Amino acid sequence: MLNIVLFGPPGAGKGTQSEKLIEKYGLTHLSTGDLFRKHLGEGTDLGKLARTYMDQGHLVPDQVVISMVEDKISTTKDSKGFIFDGFPRTTAQAEALDAMLISNGMKISGMIALDVPHEILKERIKERGKTSNRADDQNEEKVNTRIKVYLDETLPVAKYYEKQDKYTSINGVGGIDEIFEEISEVMDSY
Ligand code: AMP
Repeated sequence: MLNIVLFGPPGAGKGTQSEKLIEKYGLTHLSTGDLFRKHLGEGTDLGKLARTYMDQGHLVPDQVVISMVEDKISTTKDSKGFIFDGFPRTTAQAEALDAMLISNGMKISGMIALDVPHEILKERIKERGKTSNRADDQNEEKVNTRIKVYLDETLPVAKYYEKQDKYTSINGVGGIDEIFEEISEVMDSY
């Protein structure tokens, strides 16, 4: 079973690469951002709660995210493995993920981080905002907040996997296929 954390700042290309990876490796895509957007669209209580954080570019509280992921893993038991995209975003989430995987007889194979300079991230998010309909992509202040939240709260998660010898960083600037090849090489080494 392959369980991958695809890591990187907002706009790094995690969603784009995840789509290609699930096709090639037959894994289950678990994007917490996508799950929240689905709840938002369906107008559930969870969606209404998440919106208050997402619209500001802040993180949804750990316990809310962790429960949602637990639910998704426990209802997707026969998967060949997961690509975690946009999760874990705090060290507390990483610890909770390890605990929930262990209790299901699973573990993380590795974290693959997409490295992209901040100026390029802002450009990419601005471009995506033209078609994504995402409120959090439309406003420069919110984009800056998300990058700051990434640096303050999410970057330490890379250290968490480095300590476990499970961290690989990849240049996230270049052609989509070229980056995908590099990710595939790492995937094939697990
Ligand atoms: P994303 O699509 O991954 O960029 O996520 C969009 C927004 O959803 C983020 O800016 C957060 O407000 C929220 N979100 C997604 N995943 C998480 C997470 N793992 N922890 C906390 N908030 C999250």
